[in-house]
Amino acid sequence: MPKHSSGLVSEYYAFNSQYLRGAATIEPRWKRCVSAVDNQLGEASGKLFVDKYFGAAGRENVRRIVQNVLSELEEGIRTADWMSPETKQKALVKLKKIDASKLGFPDKYRDYSSIVITRDDFIANYTHASQFESRRQKAKIGKSLDRSEWEMTPPTVNAYYEPAFNEIVLPAGILQPPMFDKDSDEAYSYGAIGRVIGHELTHGFDDEGRKFDGDGNLTDWWTEADAKSFDERASCVAKQYSGYSPVDDGNGKPLYLNGRLTLGENVADNGGLRFAYSAYLKSQQGKESKVVDGFTPEQRVFLGYAISRCENVAQETSRLLIVTDPHSPAKFRLIGPIVNMPEFQSAFACKAGQPMVSANRCRVW
Ligand SMILES: [Zn+2]
Repeated sequence: MPKHSSGLVSEYYAFNSQYLRGAATIEPRWKRCVSAVDNQLGEASGKLFVDKYFGAAGRENVRRIVQNVLSELEEGIRTADWMSPETKQKALVKLKKIDASKLGFPDKYRDYSSIVITRDDFIANYTHASQFESRRQKAKIGKSLDRSEWEMTPPTVNAYYEPAFNEIVLPAGILQPPMFDKDSDEAYSYGAIGRVIGHELTHGFDDEGRKFDGDGNLTDWWTEADAKSFDERASCVAKQYSGYSPVDDGNGKPLYLNGRLTLGENVADNGGLRFAYSAYLKSQQGKESKVVDGFTPEQRVFLGYAISRCENVAQETSRLLIVTDPHSPAKFRLIGPIVNMPEFQSAFACKAGQPMVSANRCRVW
């Protein structure tokens, strides 16, 4: 075996990272190695991460926020004035079936013990792990669904809603600062992690998720009139985001977001923040209404949202994502839902006509 293959690494970096995404330097070797292990043996390295940085106590703190946000989604369905009682009933059945128990780490970690790993042969390790994964996937054919399976590894800084399982999953990686800090005040937590939870829950009722029922089957459970009302409201969101331009095409011409490509994520962002906000107001600390560092609790929910959304992206990456990513760039994931919320306007005493107040507010959930 060759001792190293830096030529291939540089070529890969030059095209995928530098040319396509505008990276200025290659990631340090240790980061690339950690990524490789996370990709191939993520539930093994993930267990080490969870034992050290998360643990069972972390899970309980999040579970309470999940329950409170879930109650707000239920309230949102009950009070949606555009939805008929018939469709609401079905939406509530679906809501009751959402599995929100996958928090932090799997109850049973994947067993990789059949993979041969050695210290001096990266390619062989990689191949063995790939073969293991391929065998694992093939073994599912003809068997019933394994509902305990996770699609993300525990250290992943992300979360998901899986329509076929009707479940939300929050790995330990996203349950840490700046998204979640068990010692921070609750207003911040609801704005930062509460809205992530609300976002994932809303996916069950976005333009795609709404097409699945509570058991994860692709079924149309909507009355025709309600589906039409939903589409009208969603179109408002699509139009709103199609007006946002995060970057130019390199020649000074603005590139705009594709409001249809990003629709589901935008609907989920809007619903998610709204449910997190109202869940906070009903929580213990939300009732106490204390000013901290000069900010009211209502303002701190939005600050938590803003702080947890911070990111820095090269223009090249932004141009790539605009045509490929169903998520809007962070700046508009932040602004989009806020301008639609009268709650933001009153929290910061904004006046009509100011940039953070939309004259034509969109709302699905
Ligand atoms: Zn999403």
